[in-house]
Amino acid sequence: MLISEKLTKAMNDQVGSEFGASNQYLNIAAYFDSDALPELAAFFYRQSDEERTHAMKFVHYIVAAGGKVAVPAVEEPLSTIESAEHAAKLSLEWELEVTRQINNLMSLAVDEKDFIAQDFLRWFVTEQLEEVSTMDQLLSVIRRAGAGGLLLVEDFLARLGDPHAEAAAE
Ligand code: MG
Repeated sequence: MLISEKLTKAMNDQVGSEFGASNQYLNIAAYFDSDALPELAAFFYRQSDEERTHAMKFVHYIVAAGGKVAVPAVEEPLSTIESAEHAAKLSLEWELEVTRQINNLMSLAVDEKDFIAQDFLRWFVTEQLEEVSTMDQLLSVIRRAGAGGLLLVEDFLARLGDPHAEAAAE
């Protein structure tokens, strides 16, 4: 097999982490959906779907490299979202944590001289730049709009559109 036991274990943990993020974003999406903020809801539903595809990328990689997939228990996500700012702060902190996890996986692949895994993980390294900067931007916009100005955030997101849809269309 092309993948070590240690890296298999670490990637399985990452599958759990990505599902954890997906579930957390689902709670946040539903919070906005219940509060009649459809653009914020759509943004987080989309993030939730995206995290699931991240988990699946790891699953497919482990299988292809000859490792054993063992999806771990996923921590219950926070469901007490206090405000839009709280949701964005939570998301930014989460993405910074995921960035650390991805960096740790890359360090492990480098230590093991696993060049195939390094190649695979490079995509996630780049993806985290986008994830962190997106959440950072969202937090700034929400703070600028203030608690009473969430419709401005809705307008901002509507103008922004779905960056992934645009990329897919190119
Ligand atoms: Mg992710």
